[in-house]
Amino acid sequence: MAGVNREVAIVVLGPGALDTARRIQSIYSGAKVHGLASRVQADVAFTELGAHLRALYAAGTPVVALCSAGIVIRAIAPCLANKGAEPPVLAVAEDGSAVVPLVGGLSGVNVMARQIARTLDIGPAITTSGELRFGTCLLNPPEGYALADIEHGKRFVSDLLAGAPTRIEGAAPWLDDADLPRAPDARLAIRVTSRVARPGEGDDLMIHPRCVVAWIGDGARGDIAERVRLALREHGIAPPSLAVLLAPLRDAAAEPLAEAARTLGVPLRFSAKPPSDVSERFTSQGIVLAVSERPVDPSTTGRARGKLTVLGLGPGSADLMVPAATQALAQADDILGYETYVRMAGPFRDGQRVHGTDNREEMQRARHAFELASEGRKVVVVSSGDPGVFAMAAAVLEALDEAHAREPAWTTVELEIVPGVSAALATAARAGAPLGHDFCMLSLSDNLKPWSIIETRLRHAAEADLVMAFYNPVSRARPWQLDRALDIVREYRAGATKVVLGRDIGRPGETLVTTTLEALRSAQVDMRTMVIVGSSTTRGFPNGAGSEWVYTPRWYGEKP
Ligand code: SAH
Repeated sequence: MAGVNREVAIVVLGPGALDTARRIQSIYSGAKVHGLASRVQADVAFTELGAHLRALYAAGTPVVALCSAGIVIRAIAPCLANKGAEPPVLAVAEDGSAVVPLVGGLSGVNVMARQIARTLDIGPAITTSGELRFGTCLLNPPEGYALADIEHGKRFVSDLLAGAPTRIEGAAPWLDDADLPRAPDARLAIRVTSRVARPGEGDDLMIHPRCVVAWIGDGARGDIAERVRLALREHGIAPPSLAVLLAPLRDAAAEPLAEAARTLGVPLRFSAKPPSDVSERFTSQGIVLAVSERPVDPSTTGRARGKLTVLGLGPGSADLMVPAATQALAQADDILGYETYVRMAGPFRDGQRVHGTDNREEMQRARHAFELASEGRKVVVVSSGDPGVFAMAAAVLEALDEAHAREPAWTTVELEIVPGVSAALATAARAGAPLGHDFCMLSLSDNLKPWSIIETRLRHAAEADLVMAFYNPVSRARPWQLDRALDIVREYRAGATKVVLGRDIGRPGETLVTTTLEALRSAQVDMRTMVIVGSSTTRGFPNGAGSEWVYTPRWYGEKP
């Protein structure tokens, strides 16, 4: 199932299909109902069915489309070239009376068809001959097992369909009830083993349990992936049997280890020692290979490297959040942030822990995030807008910088900062392009810097004729600062200078006002407002909708 993302997309074209869609959704955790925006409200909106189906398919997302099989086939036809990596795609009748597996035989489409059919209390339209005859798809072994060679596997199934009997060597509990033509002396064997095929076994179906842990205890030296491959070869172990790479936590940040895990296509986990409760252990190339009888579950082998993601939610609405942020939120164990923003980041699934705090406790929140992440948890710290603009990313780095020697566990945490659409950019986009030429972003808050610095910067920015975006323009505790700031700007800039006020942009009740420097009153501004003061070249014209487009031309001085 490599390359298949397991979050099922259930696609509907109208409200008539919602009932069936929700029943199917209940089978798959994380499944979302995708609805055609003009006709139905669902979890995810799309505007064009064909393009949407192709995008889902290309991303490896399993698709259950509640529409005709013909529509779905025509839509994904251009993408059908590579059979190896394809996700399951099924068509289901709107009223739940039929389920048709279309493609994805190797990624479990028939398994899904049976699950959905059971829920809808109907029979699935299975058409795969091997599957019909044997009651299972031999080429799609369950989680924890891997087929050695798909092309060879297809020949094997054809031989069985043509009447050849088979026998099973090794433990294949999922085949216990399969209706296979068995014979104890059959020439063709199904071999469930971690070793490579021996001479004379060339026609057998080799299925490898993922039961080998490779422990790399000698630091991250050399080409680790190549050393693992050599060690496997030396001991006759089939590469698909490798389940997980394990290394001491002190090497968690070593890039060669992460690189090796990517190259070998297995997870990387951490443990001070190799697993002991195993059936065989080999050492070579400085690597310990621990082989079990049955598949090992990587998620319970050693522990994960903790991850801390500092992300920006954008100004408010979910469609202005970048997909990387949405993904990090979906995967998080713990979510930290200021109450208001944490609420914006929801809803959360069961098992996700939410730690809302007061807005002023930034350093404490940053340290708490590292503590959780260094226990191996996936932690997300949320900011509004962009996390690096007057927000949590700098606080998190400050905490790490200060802790360096004292908290060695924090340095094992994988730290990522995911950008977001900052309030100035979101407001500018609504107004037109006021930031179309040189600009600066200033916070008018004197909580963390002296007011005299703010005045100096305002003077320099005003004198330099930069467009200015003011964050934190006023608050109850800072009532006079904005007026003082505007007085300074007015010393340098004409009264007719364009000003844009964006309040709650991207949130319910959003407002956008364009005015001028002389008409602007501080009463029009509160702490949820972004103030953009234009430069001498910022201009506006009617937009036909009763207000105006504001922009700053890309050129300066005479138009070139
Ligand atoms: N990290 C945030 C900024 C935090 S400072 C970002 O990149 O946007 C908080 C200030 O940002 C507020 O006082 C306000 O000036 C501005 N702001 C944040 N969200 C806003 C929104 N949705 N609409 C208008 N201004 C906003």
